[in-house]
Amino acid sequence: MQTWGELQSVQPLASKIIINSLKRNRISHAYLIQGTRGTGKKDFATLLAMTLLCEQRQGIEPCQDCHKCNRIMTGNHPDVHWIESDGKTIKNEQIDLLRKEFVYTGLETARKIYIISGAEALTVNAANRILKFLEEPDMETTAILLTDNGQSIIPTIRSRCQIIDLQPLDQTAFQHRLVQLENESINENNARLLSALTNNIDDAIMYHKEEKLYEIRDIVTQLIYELLDNYEERYLFVHQKWLPQLKERQDQALGLDILIIAINDVVHFQMGRENHTFLFQPGDGLLQRAVNQFTQKRLLQMLKDLLHARQKMNQYVHPTLVMEQLVLQF
Ligand SMILES: [Zn+2]
Repeated sequence: MQTWGELQSVQPLASKIIINSLKRNRISHAYLIQGTRGTGKKDFATLLAMTLLCEQRQGIEPCQDCHKCNRIMTGNHPDVHWIESDGKTIKNEQIDLLRKEFVYTGLETARKIYIISGAEALTVNAANRILKFLEEPDMETTAILLTDNGQSIIPTIRSRCQIIDLQPLDQTAFQHRLVQLENESINENNARLLSALTNNIDDAIMYHKEEKLYEIRDIVTQLIYELLDNYEERYLFVHQKWLPQLKERQDQALGLDILIIAINDVVHFQMGRENHTFLFQPGDGLLQRAVNQFTQKRLLQMLKDLLHARQKMNQYVHPTLVMEQLVLQF
């Protein structure tokens, strides 16, 4: 889990709002955290909950180690309640149930926290109920609403929340976040490739877990070797390696996407943007050779052919045909 200090570089505006209110000890009753998929809304809410309940907080930073912090991180703290929408609506009953639980059983601390994920799905009735018990003076309650789409939150809710906007992560920040994920052990090299394919953290983890991605990267690298060293054998390579190893159409498509990333790397490197590579590491020997051997004109033509091939793959042209044609054009 990141700290507020670390978050400041990734989400400067959002973390500033929280840090300032923590320093002045002015916590809102309700926060609306809005940001597109993959911006880290749940992590942000978890960190905020830990900050509010940690027993050994140092300044504004929760210790991330005490009993309470641990229970919040694993979703097991009795005073921190998550409500997830079923994808359509969050109903009265869900809110009522929660409220009862809080009143009767949530006695671990005075403060209770509701985290409502997919808050755009709150029905007007359910939203009104939340507002009502947020205003009960005897309950020290914080509601944290999370949404992909802030505009669809009803105005009466919006107006009572402190609004926190999370910005889409830039690629470097996204890579940094992937490397820091505790249970995934994603190295920097893999994080770079993942960040070129998606800026959604869940999708990146899914790619990483499947591992197919890294096999496909190896095949793409081999194809570039063939183009440099064994040009006459490229057609054979497609039949002996590429097609047998990438069996599914989606693997074929991913193969083309990664090849596009690789060729883009070479283009960027030629233009002197040496830290802007996603498949290759900056000092990669193969990259250096590709930079020397391919002219810019040829690279741009390759990209054009690749995009065309990618389109055909989407239009269900047979992968064998797409790949044969592509490498002959190369
Ligand atoms: Zn703690």
